[in-house]
Amino acid sequence: DLVLFWHRRDLRISDNVGLASAQQLGSRVVGLFCLDPDILQRDDIAPARIKYMLGCLQHLQQAYAQANSQLLILHDRPSQAIPDLATALNAEIVVWNRDVEPYAKSRDRTVSEALQQSGIAVQTYWDRLLHAPGDILTGSQNPYTVYTPFWKNWSRQQKADPLPSLEKARGLTAAELEAAEKVGAGSLPSAEGLGFVWDAPLPQEPGEIAAREKLNQFVESAIFKYSERRNFPAVDGTAGLSAAFKFGILGVRTVWAQTIAAEGRCYSDEARDSVRTWQQELAWREFYEHVMYFFPELAEGPYRPRWQNFPWSDDRDRFQAWCEGRTGYPIVDAAMCQLNQTGWMHNRCRMIVASFLTKDLIVNWQWGEQYFMQHLVDGDLSANNGGWQWSTSSGMDPKPLRIFNPASQAQKYDPEAEYIRRWLPQLKSVDTKYLVTGQIPPEELDGLDYPAPIVDHKQQQRYFKELYQQTKTT
Ligand code: FAD
Repeated sequence: DLVLFWHRRDLRISDNVGLASAQQLGSRVVGLFCLDPDILQRDDIAPARIKYMLGCLQHLQQAYAQANSQLLILHDRPSQAIPDLATALNAEIVVWNRDVEPYAKSRDRTVSEALQQSGIAVQTYWDRLLHAPGDILTGSQNPYTVYTPFWKNWSRQQKADPLPSLEKARGLTAAELEAAEKVGAGSLPSAEGLGFVWDAPLPQEPGEIAAREKLNQFVESAIFKYSERRNFPAVDGTAGLSAAFKFGILGVRTVWAQTIAAEGRCYSDEARDSVRTWQQELAWREFYEHVMYFFPELAEGPYRPRWQNFPWSDDRDRFQAWCEGRTGYPIVDAAMCQLNQTGWMHNRCRMIVASFLTKDLIVNWQWGEQYFMQHLVDGDLSANNGGWQWSTSSGMDPKPLRIFNPASQAQKYDPEAEYIRRWLPQLKSVDTKYLVTGQIPPEELDGLDYPAPIVDHKQQQRYFKELYQQTKTT
């Protein structure tokens, strides 16, 4: 009668498809989470993200305790640890929600086989998306590779309602807990205990309760002005829920239902348009997860063949200057400082710095992709890879080539240089027109800890286009 529910990127007890089904399958449900050394030792892990995840796990443990059950923590390879635990507890079945990432898919196959060899059943579900991969296909039954038709189809489909929360799960007896401990179930470590140091406050508060509150606040007011405000990095105009989406702290059905309720409270066309625009962002998230599921090769390199042999520069100094926010382009540097100091960066700035790295510094986007993963609290393979391939023009974007001009971007989206001054306080007293154009006269920089531009945008743009033209013929 014991069902084990394996949490991965669904660290919540409410509106959880797999967990709700687990409750139907057995009279007792116990949660488990596996700290997988194969993930923790990767070179694309951000300390802020680990700290956020552990905070969420702590909240999840409390939620299980309130439902009279336990969340067991394992710290080993899932293919070994989970069958051992399930066997030690005589569990009948192990349940989990599926994932689109290539690593997760192969890990899940291995765990599933190992469990079945031990005579333990496996049941899996789709939970993290409103529409699972395979549910949204073109007329010829193929996955979409372009967002707009995907959105048209996706937005037309009926969405499922939120599911009830876990309650009265009836967990393990003292003897069973002891048996679980014998096969490795232990307490939740700290981020430092795992070797990750993050001293700054987290940009998003961990846990289901905090994420729900944040969502409630957002759908009360900011959502109605999202279209107008979302592109201005100095303004707090977006939801700030990306880490919650990444780790499944909110059920997507709950989020969707909240957007529908917000639609009902719209007092103007602009407000309606704003809610729709936010819904489109949710669909971007799903689009990138679908394409990662169907085209796992995206994780390895450019989608468009033309980019396969692009002669990227190997200039480590330039890359380092970009990482540290010392390129001499204030909007780019401000954004990188926001990332380095807080673990989050505004979407507009993610596009600006990605374009700058690839089109101005002509450095391989994959270096930037990895750096983002090493720093973002919301770092997520599908969304990050999607964002980088889009910015490089190597991905699933109908427009052949995009090049951002950092000066026009800053003039348009940070016209008073408020964001620039916030993250580059050494430039506080420099005239706004110099900050937004990036053309600070050398004498203005005297005595300020700020570099002159390391490249010339116009020149680099020309050079980049030449390289791009050459790849056409190769
Ligand atoms: P809101 O604007 O309020 O959007 C709500 C939610 O929709 C987000 O939390 C996110 O889950 C989803 N979303 C919004 N925009 C996108 C998008 N373009 N693609 C996919 N999902 C989106 N997002 C990540 O979650 N993880 C990443 O690692 C990531 N890397 C990125 C890298 C680049 C180069 C670019 C251009 C974008 C990246 N994004 C990534 C997308 C986007 O920047 C963030 O989702 C957004 O800034 C998160 O802030 P928010 O929650 O306030 O977003």
